[in-house]
Amino acid sequence: MNNRSAIIIGAGFAGLSAGIYAQMNGYDTQIFEMHDLPGGLCTAWKRHGFTIDGCVHWLVGSSPQSGMYRYWQEVGVAQGRQFVNLDEYLRFEGKDGRILILYADIDRLERHLLDLSPQDTGVIKEFIRGIRLCAKFDFPSEYDPLPVRIKKITNFFWVMATQGRTLQRWMQTTIDAFATRFKDPLICQGLLEMWIPEFSIFFMLATLAYLHNRNAGYPIGGSLPMSLAMEKRYLALGGVIHYRSRVEKILVESNRAVGVRLTDGSEHFAERVISAADGHATIFELLDGKYADAKTREPYEKWKTFQPLIYIGLGVRRTFENEPRTVSGISFPLCQPVEIGDAVRDRLTVHLYNHDDTLAPAGKTSLVVMMPSDYDYWKALSKDRVAYTEKKEQIARTVVTLLEQRFPGISQQVEMVDVATPLTFEHYTGNWKGSFEGWLITPQNAGVMMSPMPQTLPGLQNFFMCGQWVEPGGGLPTGVMSARRLVRALCKEDGKKFQTRIEV
Ligand SMILES: Cc1cc2nc3c(=O)[nH]c(=O)nc-3n(C[C@H](O)[C@H](O)[C@H](O)COP(=O)(O)OP(=O)(O)OC[C@H]3O[C@@H](n4cnc5c(N)ncnc54)[C@H](O)[C@@H]3O)c2cc1C
Repeated sequence: MNNRSAIIIGAGFAGLSAGIYAQMNGYDTQIFEMHDLPGGLCTAWKRHGFTIDGCVHWLVGSSPQSGMYRYWQEVGVAQGRQFVNLDEYLRFEGKDGRILILYADIDRLERHLLDLSPQDTGVIKEFIRGIRLCAKFDFPSEYDPLPVRIKKITNFFWVMATQGRTLQRWMQTTIDAFATRFKDPLICQGLLEMWIPEFSIFFMLATLAYLHNRNAGYPIGGSLPMSLAMEKRYLALGGVIHYRSRVEKILVESNRAVGVRLTDGSEHFAERVISAADGHATIFELLDGKYADAKTREPYEKWKTFQPLIYIGLGVRRTFENEPRTVSGISFPLCQPVEIGDAVRDRLTVHLYNHDDTLAPAGKTSLVVMMPSDYDYWKALSKDRVAYTEKKEQIARTVVTLLEQRFPGISQQVEMVDVATPLTFEHYTGNWKGSFEGWLITPQNAGVMMSPMPQTLPGLQNFFMCGQWVEPGGGLPTGVMSARRLVRALCKEDGKKFQTRIEV
């Protein structure tokens, strides 16, 4: 066993990044991944010639001017990738025929909101001020020329000193609390649809700021090509990945992690073990809850997670060139409420991939309809496989019929429908209760923005964690950043300088 060796559990963005940074710093790593593909949640699947993209809508750090872009270059994601910056985040169509358009451009958004609802001028101005404030921030990076770096850091401290209280207030205000201040029900409902109501409004402002700065583009080709690019980078650095290798236990001797046991019974040893897999399973199953004190348990007992999804992919023999190209879709009201799965819904949000023709054959388009759903409902239903499958088929039929209301003729053009449930996400990625992005950032846990969650467990040596379960808010950038933070700390522990490099 090499004294610089590490075993990494999971080849999602966090596990691959941990491997990449560790290899760059002279560690000898191997990744054990239960699936047969890299990427974890950042994935896609093929059905009848269509690609159903399972993840990326926008990638923060897509602008070459941004500090985060350098990290995407380090892990091999940015090279050769084309990003498109879409003008609209979401279209929210009202029952009365009015449409709320969440424009990426701040000035356009402000004009549009004021046109829609002059009575809300005060709160609109406040909202727009918040986006403008967030638009001033950028990640400083080691690659920035020194003057640029100093400028970014100075700017950060200046904004914190002069606007710190305002930012704190945004952090402590939920989207729900903010949206209900609008008198216009269309704007109020549109903002609630745009994001999860319990989330801190700060993150909605930050997302709109990234979009305005053209720093949250959509990567043409979607999610899986990015994961494959990271896998390639890791292998080129000498890393080893074992697919179809599910870790069943983390092996511990005298309170030191020494290796892993797989479900096939084989045991593998290394000086360090890093889990980039689901946090709940890691702590309470792979380690049997032996290293979970009250502080470690708290998030799992009290914090809210991203609600899992019913995820319906469709392949349609139709182009949508006259429909807007949006980051997150078009939300339209149904003629009357309809039960879909565990809930009665009064609208559908359809994501048309009319901005990425690599996902469908010529003259056709991939679509996704996603909706939050209840994990326990699906878990109970899955006890009866026939009922579970029938429910999925029923949802497919219902959604196609409902799409007719917004896109007449579509039901005759649908060539493929594929329904994934919270259990599908759990099955393929192991994420707790099918959550697709880990913890929400709410006023309850917003403090983690200032002091990050620990990446170790109390009483257990040589064991570390990275990924969305130690970075509330989740997302692809946090996978890379949490892995980078971890490997930097390991280098410090070993008394060596953390280094990275970019291959062009
Ligand atoms: C529909 C959807 C849309 C999204 N949109 C965006 C977006 O637009 N922008 C954005 O930034 N983020 C987005 N995300 C979130 C983003 O995909 C995740 O936050 C991120 O991919 C999490 O990466 P991770 O490596 O931490 O975890 P995961 O991707 O969950 O990786 C964990 C890996 O560990 C493996 N594993 C688990 N248990 C074991 C075990 N016991 N043994 C071996 N292997 C194991 C899993 O198979 C998996 O490969 C979206 C996610 C979804 C589902």
